[in-house]
Amino acid sequence: MSQIEIKDLHFDYTLEQEEVPVLRGLNLLIKKGSFVGIQGPSGSGKSTLFYILGGLLRPTRGKIFIDGTEITRLSEDELAKIRNRKLGFVFQQFHLLARTSVLENILLPARYPCEEVTITNAHTEKALRLAGTLGIATHIRHLPNQLSGGQQQRVAIARALMNDADLILADEPTGNLDTASARQVMELLTSLHREGKTVVLITHDPEIAKYCETIYRLRDGAFIDQPAATGCDSPTFLKQSDLMSKALGGTSQRMLSFFREIIDHPRLYYSISRSVFPLAVGNLIRNKTKSLLTMLGVVIGISAVLAMVTLGQFTKAKILETYETLGVNNLVLRGNPNHGLKAKDRPAVTFNFFNWERDILPLQRIFPEVRRISPLLYSWRNSVSAGGRSVSDNVRILGVTPDYLDITGRRILAGRPLAMHHTDARSSVCLIGYQIAHVIFAQTNPLGQILSITVGDRLSYPCLVIGILAEQKTNKERWRPDFQVLVPYTYFQSVNSYWDNTLDEVSLQIAPGSDVEEASKKIRAFFQQKYGKSGQFNVDSDSTLVSQMKRFLNLFAVLLTAIALLSLVVGGIGINNMMLVSISERVREFGLRKALGATQRSIRVQVLLESLTLCALAGAIGVTFGFAAYELLIFGATKFIPQLKFEWILDSAAISLSLISILLVGILSGMAPALKAEKLEIIEALRSE
Ligand code: ADP
Ligand code: MG
Repeated sequence: MSQIEIKDLHFDYTLEQEEVPVLRGLNLLIKKGSFVGIQGPSGSGKSTLFYILGGLLRPTRGKIFIDGTEITRLSEDELAKIRNRKLGFVFQQFHLLARTSVLENILLPARYPCEEVTITNAHTEKALRLAGTLGIATHIRHLPNQLSGGQQQRVAIARALMNDADLILADEPTGNLDTASARQVMELLTSLHREGKTVVLITHDPEIAKYCETIYRLRDGAFIDQPAATGCDSPTFLKQSDLMSKALGGTSQRMLSFFREIIDHPRLYYSISRSVFPLAVGNLIRNKTKSLLTMLGVVIGISAVLAMVTLGQFTKAKILETYETLGVNNLVLRGNPNHGLKAKDRPAVTFNFFNWERDILPLQRIFPEVRRISPLLYSWRNSVSAGGRSVSDNVRILGVTPDYLDITGRRILAGRPLAMHHTDARSSVCLIGYQIAHVIFAQTNPLGQILSITVGDRLSYPCLVIGILAEQKTNKERWRPDFQVLVPYTYFQSVNSYWDNTLDEVSLQIAPGSDVEEASKKIRAFFQQKYGKSGQFNVDSDSTLVSQMKRFLNLFAVLLTAIALLSLVVGGIGINNMMLVSISERVREFGLRKALGATQRSIRVQVLLESLTLCALAGAIGVTFGFAAYELLIFGATKFIPQLKFEWILDSAAISLSLISILLVGILSGMAPALKAEKLEIIEALRSE
């Protein structure tokens, strides 16, 4: 049975739009187990034939069958598999991976196709055995450039045998060797033939050709013992480059289809990544200095992103916190019946002041952002007295619920706060302002004393002092916080006249982080809808100031982030450049990997993983630096701003933004180099220096 069958093989290359023929209709049968020489002078087309036979180059016309498979019809991936499993290549230039150990070089074909295999101990043992047979066992840890030419070629032969190829293709294997080494290599090839392998040897040297059983002589692209065929109508094949661009389309399209593929075949990409990850890391380690320098940009970028975003959020939170203690999260809701309403406008439900159970309590359920509610009943012109001492001017009596203290941020200096049971029981208890305590109870402990409250000169009622309010600074002086007396609103209602009892004002506190303006609009709209024109509703807050501040702080944070992201982009461009340069330097490496069975997919994943690994490392270092940087800044700030306390913060938004940026930079800066590497044409890559 014939192992190789060549039918009417043509190859033309295009030079300045002219087709120049290199191979002109070759026909050949090569039997299994034979040792065939193809001999011809330089330029006769031998290497071209070698590349076509090896599935590294597509012919212009004609067919090639290897073990019955028409390889000229196969896809790139199928071809890669044939090269990997059936063929062993020996090149004149050896084509070993520089800066990679002899052992790794021998193992190279065993790594592919990475979609299916992973290197095991058995592979390594086999590589060592081959190195032993070929007399290079002592050099297994050395780099190719530490070996002589003859030794390097033996490494290449070991590599050709690694996957048990039964067809060895050798192109001028002795071309770069001295006579003694050349003889050794020829003897090796002869012994492989004796072991049953098919060997195709290409040489310009008639002496070397004598080792072969059969010799075909090539002159100007045709065998001289065969008539060159003419007028052949076998199908025309597209050039390799045409095929590629047809199959792959534009860059963005290829990126998209790449990601779609990953989503469709996660297991496939997982296994590729697993086997090429060591290659990617190995390359980064071999280029330590370059990798570190490239990472620097991303390290700075990521630390800037983390630090800026965190500090932005931190400053915003701190400033808003300060505002919140001033009561900016508070709303005052007012509702008055509309007495001038015409009868025809009267809605189904008429508003006649708020009802606690019906109107106010449900607010918390309807608007989840409402955190605290207290009615606000007050009478202003009061005097209070106890034990013969009195404050007779403008004491503010406020009827409230326990929530009121929290809403206004008031603290108790001594005693206890109001409780809900006081409200329920209309208890005659009160909390007194600091000045009242000071003036009236200068000598005695106010707690447990009875205070008498006089409204104008009409009415007097008692209350038991249960707590003293701490001093309070305010931007609303007319409320005179230190001259206030707080009583349960139910008690207030029971002792005051009708006009003071109406519930027309309610204090609300909005949960921090919610939009106060938005909430006030919603609440107002809610009552307007409920009571139509029968009530006039108003919601007041100090929130305009805050929302302006918030807007400013957001802008500030966005600005900081943008600057940081910009520096990250610069870092990413650095990686992108380094990878592109590195790929131009490694054209031969990628060409060789593809020749030995790497699919485009695995080349792409390898390059992408190199960039992702760089970014992940840079990201980890950057996050650490960024964290240290902003904690230091906060620590420094505490020295200058005494109100500021040092704290450890890990802002989740900043962390997620950093992680997403790392991933994006890794993918974006690796994508173009990856596409460039996978697109390399094997022949050009191997020929390049
Ligand atoms: P050999 O190996 O016998 O020396 P080659 O197969 O390398 O010959 O090349 C045969 C001829 O074809 C040479 O003249 C070479 O310059 C030319 N050739 C082959 N492929 C190309 C190409 N892609 N571009 C330019 N010239 C080519
Ligand atoms: Mg040649």
